[in-house]
Amino acid sequence: MEVNRPVRVRFAPSPTGPLHMGGVRTALYNYLFAKKHGGSFILRIEDTDQTRYVPGAEAYIVESLKWCKIAPDEGFSVGGNYGPYKQSERKGMYRQFAEQLLESGHAYYAFDTAEDLDRMRAMAKAAGTANWQYNHVTRGSMKNSLTLSQGEVERKLAEGAPYVIRVKLNRNEEVKFHDHIRGWVSVNTNNMDDKVLFKSDGMPTYHLANIVDDHLMDISHVIRGEEWLPSAPLHVLLYRYLGWEDSMPEFAHLPLLLKPDGHGKLSKRDGDRLGFPVFPLQWVNPETQEIASGYREQGYFAEAFINMLAFLGWNPGTEQELFSMQELIEAFTLERVNKAGAKYDHEKTKWYNQQYLRRKPDAELAEHLLPTLEQQQHHTGKAFVEKVVALVKERAYFVQDILNEGAYLFARPAVYDEKTVQKKWNPEARQHVVSLKTRFETLSYFEAEDVEKVFKAYLGEQGVGFGKVGPGFRLAVTGKGMGPSMFDICAILGKQETCARMELALERLP
Ligand code: GLU
Repeated sequence: MEVNRPVRVRFAPSPTGPLHMGGVRTALYNYLFAKKHGGSFILRIEDTDQTRYVPGAEAYIVESLKWCKIAPDEGFSVGGNYGPYKQSERKGMYRQFAEQLLESGHAYYAFDTAEDLDRMRAMAKAAGTANWQYNHVTRGSMKNSLTLSQGEVERKLAEGAPYVIRVKLNRNEEVKFHDHIRGWVSVNTNNMDDKVLFKSDGMPTYHLANIVDDHLMDISHVIRGEEWLPSAPLHVLLYRYLGWEDSMPEFAHLPLLLKPDGHGKLSKRDGDRLGFPVFPLQWVNPETQEIASGYREQGYFAEAFINMLAFLGWNPGTEQELFSMQELIEAFTLERVNKAGAKYDHEKTKWYNQQYLRRKPDAELAEHLLPTLEQQQHHTGKAFVEKVVALVKERAYFVQDILNEGAYLFARPAVYDEKTVQKKWNPEARQHVVSLKTRFETLSYFEAEDVEKVFKAYLGEQGVGFGKVGPGFRLAVTGKGMGPSMFDICAILGKQETCARMELALERLP
């Protein structure tokens, strides 16, 4: 794709609640695109709709991006030359553009009250029109500056009557624009309505604020969710009406994130129902104190979360599935973003976490686990934890799994697996444990190879197979019926502890 102006892209969330993972994906694609083209990634807060403002949402957005390492170059909480980056703080900048549109005849005042509009809708419904719209057909019978006399309009404005400014769309005009993901999109103005751009409280609506800011911030590409595709024709017209067509950003509307079964948009409720988070971080609803779970708190690595998200709607066209942020930046192109919605797959998300966990150095994982172990009163040194990590890491999806998988290494068995006791524990098994213990006691080295040598020699002497001795031995030392190599386990526990556990099992088991 050819890029012929400095790349400046923005992520423009509205602070109406916690950022959904789909929002994080939008931010990610913007970030990857900016970095790939040596451009700037900007964070802008779109809070023109004050009725939907939720306290804490902005801080949540900032923290989520920080956790994901999607660092804005410019914007809210960062600063920059095009600020302020929060629309409520830019309030004074929008009126002049609404006025420019009024003057050029592309907008008009409308004085209809909420009741007027309700009445029109009800009448239309009774006449069989389900979706009444304020448009080129209906505006002629409404209270606006196109139907009222100039004197009356001036009087109403002087009186301080509430009004809105609406865009005036031409009849039957084809609005055509190119989208990097959808291709050519064409919409007829007959299927659009005269959207409100500005309100008498001095606040612009999303549509006006969005294009004014994209223009003033010199945005080169608008990369956003598919739910904004229906707004794009209006935005294209506003650029034209304001005389900014030459610097209009290019568009790319990203595919929806779908439920795991592919039927419909992924919602917060799906997460609750199917048991996975839909938010990057945990969110506590400030009104209800209700908690929505987050990937971070569930033990996901941010890199795994990002890698998974990158693949929800994009693929590199190769077999490679694991990508660092740097690799994503290099591989990412808008051409390889799919049109079709992307199904969320929770098993795949867990798989990503497992892959990242396997690639983490044992020492780093051990460091991670030490505080929890301390809390649980296991005062083991880091070296010991590292060995446990190395042994059980393959079986873990999350760092905390290592503690469960390796629990028997931190504490003596409190119980012995009942099935294994029933099936494998008998006088013969007991005798093998007694004999092995005696042999272990004589060893001066207790590395895995030493234990293995003694064990195998014992099998040879007795003329028995592993199956006769192994399960009872494992049961005695770990309390389990299955697990990683017993020789490794014994080496980690050390001679004294291994023998003590064997002794304990002999006392406890029948
Ligand atoms: N404020 C809009 C949102 O919350 C941004 C849409 C856009 O990027 O133009 O998603």
